[in-house]
Amino acid sequence: MPMFVDHSPPGQCIFCRLVAGEIPSAKVCEDALTVAFMDIGQVNPGHVLVATKRHAVTLLDITPEEAAAVLQTAQRVARAAQAAFDPPGMTLFQANGPVGGQTVFHFHLHVLPRHEDDGMALAWPRKEPGGAVLQDYAARLRAALQDG
Ligand SMILES: [Zn+2]
Repeated sequence: MPMFVDHSPPGQCIFCRLVAGEIPSAKVCEDALTVAFMDIGQVNPGHVLVATKRHAVTLLDITPEEAAAVLQTAQRVARAAQAAFDPPGMTLFQANGPVGGQTVFHFHLHVLPRHEDDGMALAWPRKEPGGAVLQDYAARLRAALQDG
């Protein structure tokens, strides 16, 4: 995970200032709801962040329209990165909350071209609890969906 952590209040965060043009960025594209710009850290060449223009912290805070716009912009950027850098793989990474790996608390999605042995790592500790537990988890989620 990156070491930089932005604790600025809403509206003054680094991405809000970037959207407002108060700090420079290497912008790739933008539309009414989103902006795409180069990640300063560049894990691999062509590493882009897609952020909402409006300040929202996590996936739970953005509107359905913003969610759709973010993924549409990410797909445009991924196609451009494929054409410009020709990576053999591409990973989308989106983190929510400090425990989830979020370090800038303004919603964003990483579009990350990938290469063999590029040092990216994400542990995936499988638990495989079995069918009865899966049915229970699904039932809890279905009930929560009906509440929403
Ligand atoms: Zn912000």
